Amino acid sequence: MNRILTRASVFGCLLSISIAPVYAQENYKEISKEDITKVYRANGNFYAVPDYSVSFPPKKRPKNIIVMIGDGMGLAQVYAGMTANGGRLFLDNFKNVGFARTHSGDNYVTDSAAGGTALSTGVKTKNDVIGLDINYDTLQNVRELAQQRGKATGVLSTSAITHATPASFLAHRKSRSYYEDIALDITNSGVDVFIGGGYKHFTKRADDKDLTVDLKKKGYQVLRTIEEVAAVKDGKVAGLLAPEHTDRLEKRGNILPVATKTAIDILSKDKDGFFLMVEGSQIDWGGHQNNVPYIVEEMTDFDRAIGVALEFAAKNKETLIIVTADHETGGLAIANGNLKNGTVNGLFPTGGHTAIPVPVFSFGPGANRLTGFMENTDIANIVKEFLNRK
Ligand SMILES: [Zn+2]
Repeated sequence: MNRILTRASVFGCLLSISIAPVYAQENYKEISKEDITKVYRANGNFYAVPDYSVSFPPKKRPKNIIVMIGDGMGLAQVYAGMTANGGRLFLDNFKNVGFARTHSGDNYVTDSAAGGTALSTGVKTKNDVIGLDINYDTLQNVRELAQQRGKATGVLSTSAITHATPASFLAHRKSRSYYEDIALDITNSGVDVFIGGGYKHFTKRADDKDLTVDLKKKGYQVLRTIEEVAAVKDGKVAGLLAPEHTDRLEKRGNILPVATKTAIDILSKDKDGFFLMVEGSQIDWGGHQNNVPYIVEEMTDFDRAIGVALEFAAKNKETLIIVTADHETGGLAIANGNLKNGTVNGLFPTGGHTAIPVPVFSFGPGANRLTGFMENTDIANIVKEFLNRK
């Protein structure tokens, strides 16, 4: 009897380990072994962070909403970035702070599909699912609601635009791995500006369609380089800057801050206001790889994109910025550091996602609604409330 039980329990645990799907587009999940990945050294090279102390009438409703998602960004990832920049980030300017619980509809530990869907629709669904509820019924997301309200909309990412988080604001599919179907949804979504990677999911397809032809017919400027993105001043934009994911910061350059500026410049021309989602995707990949320098590079790049949004919002005064995450990755513990020279030592208990609640930083009219402990779904429901209010 015992022998049968033990064999059964061994088989059981083997089965559970092998359930977590690893898709072709996700080969960034290998833990790196070298020690150099546990320490980041800024050698005192810090970027300046101005003060944006602006106050907003408590009852004022935002006309524009910018949701910025650091994929895998827990509080430790934020503070690793802050230490690496000598103790200050643009996030310092966000005085409204809360924490969001991230468990999904079927898992204590969420993936980016369920996490993204919770932040975009206000409903908890199963891991792996994009924009559908646990019964696979379609859920309207806040970008679609904003569009319905006559606002301009945009989605930006440093991963493929077909990847889980950006797809949660553009598509409705049973699995995050249906990249070509997600590309089709994006082409038919009506979004005004989208920028990321994923060109091959629009052009090298099983159905032999070239969706960039459809995009051009719909009036999109199909752009392939960040220089083109930086130069465009108005109109519909389909920025496909890499066949799949964009490269690490060193090779891709400051795509995210530049794309954020272009998107805000274009979308803010809409008299009814706009909704924009900006994702710093690769913080998560640094966590999966247990790689502190990767995390810090991505966290500070994301922070600079936050700086671009803040520069606009502080002047515009009708814009709510919400900065949060879909989950934390790696269980990063900051074991040591030095604020003077920007050194960070990190340790990791896992190469996977964790269940710790994630920070929520808000700036602008309505920011005072996003404090304390909340569910990730509350963030989307508060955004819906602002979009529905006359
Ligand atoms: Zn992840």
